[in-house]
Amino acid sequence: MDLNWENRLSRMANNRIHGSIFSDLGAIEKKYKPVCLSIGEPATDFFPLEDMRVFFNAICDRRDLFGYYPYHAGFTALREWIVTWMHNDGIVPSWVTSQNIVLTNGSQQALSYISDLLVDEETCVAVEAPSYVEALRTFRRAGAKFVEIETDENGIIPESFENVCKEFNPSILYTIPNFQNPSGSVAPIDRRNTILDIANKYDVVIIEDDPYRYVSFVDSLPQTYIGLANENKRVIYLGSFSKLIAPGIRCGWMVLPSPIVGKMLELRNTIEMSLPAPMQFVVSEFCLNINIHSYLLKIQNYYKKRCNYLISSLDKYMVPSGLKINYPTGGLFVWSQMPGIKDDVDFVKYAIKNYGVSVMPGSIFYSKPGQGMDTLRFSFARIDEETAEEGCRRLALAYDNYIMDSEKIKNEERRSVIYE
Ligand code: PMP
Repeated sequence: MDLNWENRLSRMANNRIHGSIFSDLGAIEKKYKPVCLSIGEPATDFFPLEDMRVFFNAICDRRDLFGYYPYHAGFTALREWIVTWMHNDGIVPSWVTSQNIVLTNGSQQALSYISDLLVDEETCVAVEAPSYVEALRTFRRAGAKFVEIETDENGIIPESFENVCKEFNPSILYTIPNFQNPSGSVAPIDRRNTILDIANKYDVVIIEDDPYRYVSFVDSLPQTYIGLANENKRVIYLGSFSKLIAPGIRCGWMVLPSPIVGKMLELRNTIEMSLPAPMQFVVSEFCLNINIHSYLLKIQNYYKKRCNYLISSLDKYMVPSGLKINYPTGGLFVWSQMPGIKDDVDFVKYAIKNYGVSVMPGSIFYSKPGQGMDTLRFSFARIDEETAEEGCRRLALAYDNYIMDSEKIKNEERRSVIYE
């Protein structure tokens, strides 16, 4: 007799893990093979594999990498390299040593660990609206109750954060201060200071998720929250090599205040004992042997070029139709608002099926349903000049025809949206 697995699922699996729009769109994309303006992952030829080959070969000479225990918090040399790098950049306070660094399988795993450690059922987590969808899903899995903070092109609006604190008393603020996913916003220094003051006043822990920091097209960025907080140890900082080397290496890190390091490592025991040290060894050797400044410059140029391709094609094809876009100064994303689109998911499906172009619907980045239904997120991570041009040309056609096909929109409105 076949087991009824649905009845065996935990309440968590049943109630808090649901299918995502990504699976839906993924299935449609597989069928229609659209020009892709949605994926936040670079083309594979970007990955520095030739430069890493020698370090992959060297793994086999290092038997110490293959045990469970020696590298519980992660490969020591890499933790040391990270801490030196962050100090050289001046982004962490002096109390941060390699003892405060715990390596993870990417920031996503860090978010999962933090959820396990700090989020109970009904724990109130304040999030940017919009925010990184997989972080929302991870906190939700742990039972979080979300409160949304209003944002603009400069990230969190401090007054909104204060109101949220007064009314809901959140215990955590989750924020992506640099080149936010999905909006691309960067929070300026005065806002960061005010937000930190509010976090102090209302005793809120800040999770600072910073995977795009080094994908920057500007000379300098405002100080990190963890740096600003200094001796006030209420910030957990997350970094990642996904955008610097490759997402598939699954390598990131958390900077943790000392009192929670031990608990985090105990948690690791219950999950996975340790992480693949051979991979961390390769990352460590790579970092130790490159000139990080010129390497970062190369990455920044790679993405900047792609950003410009996308922006100029959007300017050419979509902006005349009324699309409002941000002009990012780093990261991977262009956030946009489309007048006339009332159901972004429906529009995206229409565009894939009928015009062979895909973008990311913006509403999925909100913790509460029914918001951002006229927004779209573009990614320039893997496009070249040709795909940007062709993708935007197709999208403009999709947009015009979607608007005209839509029975919900009156004739006059159509005219003003398309031709004004
Ligand atoms: N945080 C943010 C804001 C992200 O956009 C992503 C993925 N792109 C992650 C965390 C997870 O990244 P990774 O696990 O690859 O480090």
